[in-house]
Amino acid sequence: MGNSFTTNCINSMELLFVSAECYPVAKAGGLGDVAGALPKYLTQLGHVTKLVMPMYRTKFLYANQWDVVHKGSSNLGNWWFEFTVIKEKTNVLGFDLYLLDINGLLDREKVYGYDDDSERFTAFQIAVLEWVANWQHQPDVIHVHDHHTALIPFMLKYCYRFAGIKNLPTVLTIHNAEYQGWMNWDKTIFIPQYDIWKWGMLEWNNKINPLASGIKCADKVTTVSPSYLDELKYMSNGLEALFEYEKGKCVGILNGIDTNVWDPQQDPYLKAENRFSANNSEGGKAKNKMQLCEQFDLDFDKPLICFIGRLVGEKGADLLPAVISDSFYHVGRSMNFLILGSGSPDVEAQLNMMTPISNNDYNAFIGYNETLSHVIYAGADFLLMPSRVEPCGLNQMYSMRYGTVPMVRRTGGLKDTVVDYGEPGGYGICYNFAAVGDICHGVWRAVELYHNKEKMAGIRRKMMQLDFGWETSVKQYISVYESVVR
Ligand code: ADP
Repeated sequence: MGNSFTTNCINSMELLFVSAECYPVAKAGGLGDVAGALPKYLTQLGHVTKLVMPMYRTKFLYANQWDVVHKGSSNLGNWWFEFTVIKEKTNVLGFDLYLLDINGLLDREKVYGYDDDSERFTAFQIAVLEWVANWQHQPDVIHVHDHHTALIPFMLKYCYRFAGIKNLPTVLTIHNAEYQGWMNWDKTIFIPQYDIWKWGMLEWNNKINPLASGIKCADKVTTVSPSYLDELKYMSNGLEALFEYEKGKCVGILNGIDTNVWDPQQDPYLKAENRFSANNSEGGKAKNKMQLCEQFDLDFDKPLICFIGRLVGEKGADLLPAVISDSFYHVGRSMNFLILGSGSPDVEAQLNMMTPISNNDYNAFIGYNETLSHVIYAGADFLLMPSRVEPCGLNQMYSMRYGTVPMVRRTGGLKDTVVDYGEPGGYGICYNFAAVGDICHGVWRAVELYHNKEKMAGIRRKMMQLDFGWETSVKQYISVYESVVR
């Protein structure tokens, strides 16, 4: 495997990741990318890293070979269920990958979006702990991610059934605090019998709040960028006071990107003849741009400004239609826009409606398409991210690695990774507000920059040499694990 870190680790730890997503097994967003990369880099540093996730019906499941390693049973309230844990045979991801199946509950095509998601993820967490309780030895740390797995620290500490493993240290990483997994109290029967005096460790604002519970019960909490951690204390969808209270155990660690997967020189999603390196990017980028312009009927000579992501308020996606029409009106029809995403039906409909009136300068692909996302990172001139909330944001780092200038709102991880080209040593386009006027000003600056070929080439070279790899972050995670190992 390329880019391996040197293995000079003295105290090897055994780490168990529990996650709802992991690229390339199943991915809905950045959580999948992180869960597919961080365990690999920890393994390269000599730590035994295992990841367990639900067994969804994805291509990856059928394309790989598996051993059954455990069969067990448990209950979710009154419903008794059996579960099976399978392990991927060849270590294809660079760490031990386990899938946990609960027949009828987890084996679905999508990761999220079902009415019984609370039942699905609660049962998954119970089954994971039943499995771990059966291990001959115990992991040093259980690392859980977002609300889907955030009940594990509570269950370990306070559910009688897991008393044998109650001292296992836990770390919770928050990839997105907007979603908290709220459940009404009638669902308390799903949680295995617990010390009733501890109900407050499940509660926030009169509901069972799995994310809040994780923050209260985990030994350490990390967020995916330092600026996001600061912001959560005054803007976290109701959890502000909790973040302020628990700040002593919280650490912000910027995500890295998997430079093996995201490498314009050998990206299998790009046509072989369209791949390129930092030293010689112009030709390769132009070929990818041409591919996009042909596919989406766009004008190659104009700067290509793209958006990739979930079409939701957090990402500022509802602003896109107005940004596009106002830019055409105020800046002129001197740029192309291309959108890839899915989400809010209203935004999807508005973006679709704009296609017929485009003038070879606008198009949208509504849906999720991994291949297209790679071609866009490679072929776009600019990547627009008008996020209202951005815990870390990976898109801006992918775009820079592929020589595409990010146009970001100064928030969360975007603030930590992009410096405006007007500032010393800068390379991106930054604005302060998720407001149409501010973003359109960014569009105007992008068009200006595009026509200054020399400056644009210099910025492209600089961005492509920036290091957003995992090396620094992985060491920070190791310090966090070491701090909780008893
Ligand atoms: P979030 O996890 O909040 O959605 P991130 O920036 O952390 O945002 O990660 C987004 C990831 O999902 C990136 O890898 C991005 O390329 C990918 N992605 C988002 N939407 C799409 C889509 N419609 N098609 C392909 N990839 C997408």
